[in-house]
Amino acid sequence: MQPLTNELKICGWQSGRTIVKTRGFLVVLSGPSGAGKNTLLAKVLPKVPGLTYSVSATTRPPRPGEKHGVDYYFLEPREFQEWIDRGEFLEWAEFAGHRYGTPRRFVMEAIAQGRVVITDVDIQGARQIKQVLSDGVFVFLMPPSVDELHNRLKGRGTDSSEAIARRLEIARSELDAVVDYDYWILNDDLEQASETLAAIIRAEQSRVRRATFMCRKEP
Ligand code: ADP
Ligand code: 5GP
Repeated sequence: MQPLTNELKICGWQSGRTIVKTRGFLVVLSGPSGAGKNTLLAKVLPKVPGLTYSVSATTRPPRPGEKHGVDYYFLEPREFQEWIDRGEFLEWAEFAGHRYGTPRRFVMEAIAQGRVVITDVDIQGARQIKQVLSDGVFVFLMPPSVDELHNRLKGRGTDSSEAIARRLEIARSELDAVVDYDYWILNDDLEQASETLAAIIRAEQSRVRRATFMCRKEP
């Protein structure tokens, strides 16, 4: 047991109420395309109060129903390059012929305000984020099998058979990257997977190193 540092001012035997302020952090969710990241996020966001989704930018055209500023910021390749040149990305990468990036300012401001931010990025993006935000929490979502991944990509009905083949090919090499992450979640049963992700986030919010303890004296 390590001695308590000066920063820790738990009330102890004094009369008063212990107040805990926790620092914000970034949760990075990766996993092969079709593993269920977006479906899982839609389940988890309402379960964890205050959890904030970081909307990425992409040069990929919108799928039916996707909205600019909600699902992605859909940018022309020229605009995406301008964002890169202005240093507006925390990370960016090329995936299956399109560019994807995480807006830096939104993430850093939300973390500075003490919020927990979650972002869905591929493994190249996750590696870049680890270099700059070592305090991040890295979660890898695994499909039950490559056959099931194929079924999910087909069932989603948003990608051509060429795009599906390309994403499956990328998935085969991506699965090995799980060893570089802090947590894995098997997305077999969606409800169970969302409970696990919510539990990971709650546990990370309770890490002592993210906390500042204060003792408010009772009048
Ligand atoms: P990703 O965001 O990882 O590319 P999606 O969230 O779009 O993946 O999910 C791909 C497809 O798989 C969707 O049609 C979704 O409804 C389905 N799906 C997601 N999770 C499950 C699950 N646990 N069981 C069965 N189907 C799932
Ligand atoms: P999709 O085209 O299916 O929405 O996303 C394809 C891939 O891009 C997924 O693996 C997803 O995790 C990744 N992706 C989405 N947003 C970002 C981002 O901001 N940065 C990076 N590096 N990858 C992203």
